Amino acid sequence: MELNDINPNVLNVKPSSMREFDHEISADPQIVKLTLGEPNFDVPAHIKQAAIDAINDNYSHYPYFWGYAELREAAAKYYQEKFGYHYTADQIVVTVGATEAVADAVATLFQPGDAVILPSPAYPLYDASIAMHGLKQVRIDTSKTDYILTPEAVQQAIDDNPGLNIRGLIITDPNNPTGVAYTEEQLKALVPVLKENRIWVISDEIYGELTYGQKHYTLSTWLPDQTVIVNGLSKSHAMTGWRLGYVFGPKGFIDEIAKVHQFTVTTPTSTVQYAAIEAMKHGQNDAEVMRKQYEKRRDFVVKNMREAGFDVVHPGGAFYVYAKIPASLHMDSWTCARTLAKDYHIGLFPGASFGDDASIRISYAASDEALKAAMTAIKKLVADKSVVGD
Ligand code: PLP
Repeated sequence: MELNDINPNVLNVKPSSMREFDHEISADPQIVKLTLGEPNFDVPAHIKQAAIDAINDNYSHYPYFWGYAELREAAAKYYQEKFGYHYTADQIVVTVGATEAVADAVATLFQPGDAVILPSPAYPLYDASIAMHGLKQVRIDTSKTDYILTPEAVQQAIDDNPGLNIRGLIITDPNNPTGVAYTEEQLKALVPVLKENRIWVISDEIYGELTYGQKHYTLSTWLPDQTVIVNGLSKSHAMTGWRLGYVFGPKGFIDEIAKVHQFTVTTPTSTVQYAAIEAMKHGQNDAEVMRKQYEKRRDFVVKNMREAGFDVVHPGGAFYVYAKIPASLHMDSWTCARTLAKDYHIGLFPGASFGDDASIRISYAASDEALKAAMTAIKKLVADKSVVGD
């Protein structure tokens, strides 16, 4: 068939290099994988039971397409208590994971030709959503500011692109891939430039419950009329495969995104929504058990990576360590990731997958044994392959 029969916006979307690489290395059972952002915890038992009960009690009919009212009410309360979100049930749509929430938010807010700012490195989903809708992107390299987006950088991007209609920003806090978590001051500092230029923010807060020694804040506190929040249960309740997310936003926006959602996916399954009601009503402490484990692993990985000679930015959240490849290795991120996989049996993602070829990302949502093996292998890589002094 002719490729010119296909929508060019779809042709422009690059398949996820992360998924491909993960698939490729999965063929070798020897490889210890620290690749995907996949919690290695089970779904809490009370949530599993709620799903089983929903099936046995025949909750098998179409839920209202916005998501069950009981779930949206419970979610409004849950996130209000956790992070101070200020949304009522009619400002929430229940989505098929955070992925759908991001994709629908992009589709609802922007039109072909609009430009969206992406602090880089960035989670690849955003890149794809932007391309899919014929939008332009303005990447802001955050590596010089500890991977934090600054108001000066936003202003600079606007000044440097007078011909672009910059209408949006997608921010991830806590961040994937860097693990950085914004402080209250860092978020507040962004508000004036975003307000002044009427830039809508899609704030992906899927890792909001996984912060270490610092609180999670949300831009929506100071920019309620221009912020759309994406969240969900994938990371907080280890429910990646259950596909349950949310989008929160001003009423006018939510009424419109509900249409995009209704005529694409309709709504997540009834069973999962019933389980999510249980998570929202009685699962307030579920993430804490995992968070404590992640924090220990983070400390272990950061310490070891620094000992190995990698420059690591302080990860205040999520479950990733983002490490700059030492100059002595003379490797770009793909070479580093492929060498580690092939010769040292360790799988991790190259920074190139996120738009930055100088670093690698380690997911520490993995067992202690896997992390120990990885640290030993990475230290060996540095010992074997460093070329100093040229
Ligand atoms: N947003 C970020 C920043 C992520 O890291 C991920 C998954 O890794 C997602 C969204 C996707 O979440 P979900 O599984 O709920 O679609």
